[in-house]
Amino acid sequence: VEDAVAEDMSRFEETFVGINKRFRLINRIGEGTFSTVYKAEDLEYNKYDNNWDIEERENKKWSSPGHRKQSKRPHYVAIKKIYVTSSPIRIFNELELLYDLRDSDSVCPLITAFRHLDQVVAVLPYFQHRDFRDYYRDMKISEMRLYFRSMFTALRAVHRKKIIHRDVKPTNFLYNPALQRGVLVDFGLAEREGTECHPCACHLSDEERRHRVTHSVYAQTQSSGHNTSSYPKNDTRNSRRANRAGTRGFRAPEVLLKCTQQTCSIDMWSVGVILLTMLSRRFPFFHSADDIDALLEITTIFGRKKMRETSLLHGQVFETNIPSYSESGHSLEKIILWCTGRTGDKTAPKKELEEDEKEAVQFLHRLLECNPAKRITADEALRHPFIAKAHE
Ligand code: ADP
Ligand code: MG
Repeated sequence: VEDAVAEDMSRFEETFVGINKRFRLINRIGEGTFSTVYKAEDLEYNKYDNNWDIEERENKKWSSPGHRKQSKRPHYVAIKKIYVTSSPIRIFNELELLYDLRDSDSVCPLITAFRHLDQVVAVLPYFQHRDFRDYYRDMKISEMRLYFRSMFTALRAVHRKKIIHRDVKPTNFLYNPALQRGVLVDFGLAEREGTECHPCACHLSDEERRHRVTHSVYAQTQSSGHNTSSYPKNDTRNSRRANRAGTRGFRAPEVLLKCTQQTCSIDMWSVGVILLTMLSRRFPFFHSADDIDALLEITTIFGRKKMRETSLLHGQVFETNIPSYSESGHSLEKIILWCTGRTGDKTAPKKELEEDEKEAVQFLHRLLECNPAKRITADEALRHPFIAKAHE
């Protein structure tokens, strides 16, 4: 253990006096925007009525109560120290959602949580996994099927409880290729579906939506003509303060367009970005600086026409004077061929994707569907041939 990490760990132990009676800190394993995560050994595992150890749980299933032995092997946990800069409401939200999801398949359960002054700590079972960057480049299609089967199992459980994760990305899905399973972590940005207060236009009928768009354009024109202030007075348009939480590059178009009635389908778009990453062997696939940039990156793929239609769904008008964006975009198949250097030239014949890659691309279309109402759900994805065909 490095000096700086060792120092950080001993400072942590000083804050939580007595923590080392139950947990032996081993290393620092994660440092994110909102937390620091340590790996530790639970020294008192057998003292409590625990059942979080996955291996242990499996063993219990197969042995009769009389024959159960208390295992001597170590039990590891991940201790997540949530930064004091996070608001108490947010911390409470994360812990409450984890508690709600305690019995959900493929979701990392919460063992316990404790607080010292303004410092909150969550304890989760440690899940052995591999770093995404180490394997995404050489994943076979058959391995992708297994990865996503595990991912959709987690998301189905989360979405059934009407919880939106909001930050689905490789570092928040800990995957173990050898076990062919993963766990979803990090509910720091998660929220319950339908908690926003400003209705968006995406659930209105086409006619109502058109009315609202005309109305908003009218308001803008009026104010620019007769007002010195650039912002319209008595603006009757909906204020747009939608939840934009998440990680750039993984945000669905409706998040970027500030739709205020976001649903669990935003997570499915993020999964689509992960699949696109694997198929194109590019990580990160999108690297926009801000939301507008991110919208333009999506425009490069899907074209202006699709973006105009998508914007209209949310009562927004999409306009760009950048001539390089084509009207109809490029096919995902072509993009994957480009990214993997299989473009072919004048001398070589045009290259094609393999059969199983084509199957993956068809499925990808269902995830990277710009209209959230038409996008595939986690439950449907598990029944989709691309995933249903996964076998160990
Ligand atoms: P943050 O909100 O800071 O992103 P996360 O909950 O995503 O916090 O955890 C950060 C990192 O810590 C993860 O990307 C992962 O590498 C590691 N981690 C978190 N939970 C566990 C766990 N249960 N088992 C193993 N590693 C974990
Ligand atoms: Mg995270």
